[in-house]
Amino acid sequence: MTRALSTVALDAIGDGATPPAGRRRGEDGAELLGTERVAKPRRAAPADAVRPTRAEVNLAHLRHNLRAVQRALGDVDARAQERGPEVWGVLKADAYGHGAPAVARTLERAGMPGMCVALLEEGIELREAGIRAPILVMGGYYGPRDGLEAMLAHDLVPVVYGPQQIEGIAAIVRHHGGVPRTGLLPVSANDDGRVGVHVKIDTGMGRLGVMAEGLGAVLDAIARSPEVRLEGLMTHFACADADELDATRAQLARFDALTHVAQARGLVPRVRHAANSAALLRLPEARLDVVRPGIALFGVAPKGGLDVELRPVMRVRSEIVALRTLAPGESIGYGHTWTATRRSTIATVPMGYADGLSRKLSNVGSALVRGRRAPIAGAVSMDLTMLDVTDVSGAREGDEAVFLGPQDGPLGRDQIGAEEIAELTGTIPWEVLTSVSRRVPRFYREP
Ligand SMILES: *Cc1c(COP(=O)(O)O)cnc(C)c1O
Repeated sequence: MTRALSTVALDAIGDGATPPAGRRRGEDGAELLGTERVAKPRRAAPADAVRPTRAEVNLAHLRHNLRAVQRALGDVDARAQERGPEVWGVLKADAYGHGAPAVARTLERAGMPGMCVALLEEGIELREAGIRAPILVMGGYYGPRDGLEAMLAHDLVPVVYGPQQIEGIAAIVRHHGGVPRTGLLPVSANDDGRVGVHVKIDTGMGRLGVMAEGLGAVLDAIARSPEVRLEGLMTHFACADADELDATRAQLARFDALTHVAQARGLVPRVRHAANSAALLRLPEARLDVVRPGIALFGVAPKGGLDVELRPVMRVRSEIVALRTLAPGESIGYGHTWTATRRSTIATVPMGYADGLSRKLSNVGSALVRGRRAPIAGAVSMDLTMLDVTDVSGAREGDEAVFLGPQDGPLGRDQIGAEEIAELTGTIPWEVLTSVSRRVPRFYREP
């Protein structure tokens, strides 16, 4: 049934592979920005795919998850009336491995008003793919001055947490006699010629953001820089998916108190935001003006979250390329870690740890063949994995093997979730999704 659905290649939905005219590129295609080169993430193109191994990204499920999140926020038809919080999806790390340009384009068309990335180069990639929505660059590190310049030129929204960053932005605007522009985006009517920044406050994550005692200096820098406007105040929760939400409530209370510090100085942000997927689904008072879901958009429900129906977006599949029959006592794979205890049928599939299939799944994980689970037999190797298909009757060369996601087959229907793989490999679903390597081409499905 999967084959019956149309599978479109990345380029077919316009991945923006061709750079806009007039942009400068180095030999390897990296864009030249002043003297600095911003590297482009490289991924296997579907057109180059020889192996049957690929990741299928279901864009309808992505849209479904956006609507599920919006519905949970209670603002599906209410947009015209009282506005609920805005959803700014988090598309860092190549949209959690799903391919940021296609994901961003799909969500922008579905009406998502803004998005967040971690890195400057991730923001530039989305602008060059034609995304016009506001893009918040949350990592807060833009390298030397050239990075900040590229940031503003691409109309990306900087997250800042130090006075020097604000002074750097103001200096660039003064130097150019205005905000530098690439021309990729029209200057909006309400553009007041100032750079809107979001100030990140550390309320207990202990990672990035200005601490309470440093906030005054940041606010002072904004107050003395007419080139800069306080657009947003943000923070990030450390324990939003923990059993207890006390730590999250305490962070939120600190965030409120520090917001008042800014307001007392006459600096009122247009928006405040804090909630990741878990917080927005579990703690309504944390929703504020904007929510920043990542994992929920890709179909993984945070633990203890509201009962929202999310659908997995990525499906990783390959095919059986070889079959052999082993006699009892015969062993397979590196280190001979699996030995047949009966006459066994072993299938070889061209998917290995270099594709993101964790080696920890050796003799522990499984794949779906003909709608049934087939245990991984022996060590997962770099490019190949063996499956014990002795109990999968009729298994033959060319059969699909699914390592992540659902499969419908003659023997039944089953699915392997990112949560299950995370459990087996001692990690979290975020790492499972972002581990699918760039060697695996992404195919976009529009059922
Ligand atoms: C990754 C990230 C998010 C999204 O988190 P999810 O748990 O995937 O929803 C939100 N905000 C910040 C600052 C992040 O780094």
